[in-house]
Formats: sequence, structure tokens, C-alpha cells
Amino acid sequence: MSPELLEHAIKDWIRKTGKVPKAMIPVHLYGMPAQIDAMKEIARVYDIRIIEDAAEALGSTYKGRKCGTFGEFAALSFNGNKMITTSGGGALVCSTPDQAKKTVFYATQARDDAPWYQHSSIGYNYRMSNICAGIGRGQMMILEEHIARRRAIHQLYKELLSGMEGIVVQENPSRDYQSNFWLTCILIDKKATKLTPEEIYLYLAEKQIESRPLWKPLHLQPVFSTAPFYGDGTSASLFDIGLCLPSGLGLSDEEIAYVAEHICTCIKRNNQSLLTSGYLI
Ligand SMILES: *Cc1c(COP(=O)(O)O)cnc(C)c1O
Repeated sequence: MSPELLEHAIKDWIRKTGKVPKAMIPVHLYGMPAQIDAMKEIARVYDIRIIEDAAEALGSTYKGRKCGTFGEFAALSFNGNKMITTSGGGALVCSTPDQAKKTVFYATQARDDAPWYQHSSIGYNYRMSNICAGIGRGQMMILEEHIARRRAIHQLYKELLSGMEGIVVQENPSRDYQSNFWLTCILIDKKATKLTPEEIYLYLAEKQIESRPLWKPLHLQPVFSTAPFYGDGTSASLFDIGLCLPSGLGLSDEEIAYVAEHICTCIKRNNQSLLTSGYLI
């Protein structure tokens, strides 16, 4: 989330509707911490709550502090593909015991304190089952290992792809940002590689390697086609030139090397064939 565009959106919204938005939801995408200080300053100036989407950022830190502890609330995901899993579900990080109590109340059908089922407010059945929670408690013991491995995978990709012109591996923008590198993402310079991410994606698929485009931006989702949007083209451009590489814990160093090697051969081969066809001259 761009702090500049965020402030522009807030101002524009106030001007149009006379209302200040109640909350903002910055997301730590692929585990990379959002620009927290700038968000917090905007939140302070306009008195808007921050709810962090820290679903991908368990273990990431910003200025030494864990993602998920900056907002009034933060959501974590324990889906099967996340840093640790309970097979499904997640957690809400609250700022006060009272908020936590209220959350549990609403997540467990908002039952009043009575011997019979009595409801004075509307609740939901959002609680995690004891079986899933049990799995999660076990996963907590290997959380640090999982984070370390994801970071090691990222480091390995970075080294293996470092000499490859036209490929940029996402990195921490400064020491303040310490991503958990939940997924390792690359940007592909179409000019330098003469390839689109889709062509690389298809080549890798042929080699039994699953890669993915970056998340499709929300404003490009058909369901939000009529929603107001404040942007400068950055997210659409990243969607256009980005690729997520296989980053799962099940992958060995050899398999990471296999992926990196095929990315390199795909680009070299392509440049080679362009060269022999005289296209590049
Ligand atoms: C996975 C994810 C979610 C959703 O979490 P679930 O537990 O699958 O509902 C939300 N936001 C982001 C950024 C995610 O990566």
C-alpha cells in the first residue's frame, strides 16, 4: 500500500462523502512488511484504525518488531500454504484482553451468560476446532525452523539467479524490513529477457515446475470492477511482470537449483534462438 495514495484516497473520500474511513487494511505481501511508520502516521493524523493483513507475514519484522503487532488488530492465516498450518483457519491478534474476549464471544455464536441458548447480539461460528488447534500448537514448535528455511530458499534463489540479466529477485528494501520470504518472487524485464512471465511460466510447467503470477490486484478483480480505486499503475505493472517461484518447505536445495537452472536455460535458449535467427542484430 502506497502511503501517498492512501492519504490521497482518504482526503478524496472525506471531500466526496464528508466521512472519515473507519479502518485501513495494509497487507504485508509475500511476507514483506508494509511501510508501517508512514501508515501509522496517517492513521494518527486522520484517527483511522489499522487492521493488518499479516496472513503471509508470520515471523517478518519491521524495525525489529513482529508484523501483526502494529495495528489495533491483525489477521494471521494458518491455511495449508502459509508459514504454519492448522489445515485451515487463522488467528486474530488483538491489542487488549477485552478485545480478545469480545472477539471470542462473537466467534462462538454470541451466547449470553445463561443456562439456555440466549442471544442478545448476532454472532458467528468462527471458532477453530480443537483438532485444528492441536495441530497448530504442534506447528508452533517448528515455526522458527519454517521461517529459517523460507529465508534460506530465498537466499539460494538470489545466489543462483544473481548473474541472470533481466531477472530481479525481491529483496528487503532496507535493514528495517526483514521479510520471512514466505514466497520468493521475481520480476522479469521483458526487454532484457525477450520473454514474458507467461512464457517462462509455460516453459517451467513443461519441466514439471509450478510457478505462479503475482497476486492479481484487487482493483482488477471483476467483482470489484465498480469499486473506487486509487492507484498509479504499480500493482498492475507488478502483476504483469512478476512471478512467484516454488518456495515450499518440501523442496530440497537441489530442487531449488533445478528451478533456477531452468529459468536461466529458458532465457539463454530464447536469446540464443533469437540470435541465430538474426532477430537481435
Ligand atoms: C491467505 C491469505 C488470506 C486468507 O487467509 P485464509 O486463512 O486462507 O482465509 C488473506 N490475506 C492474505 C494476504 C493471504 O495471503
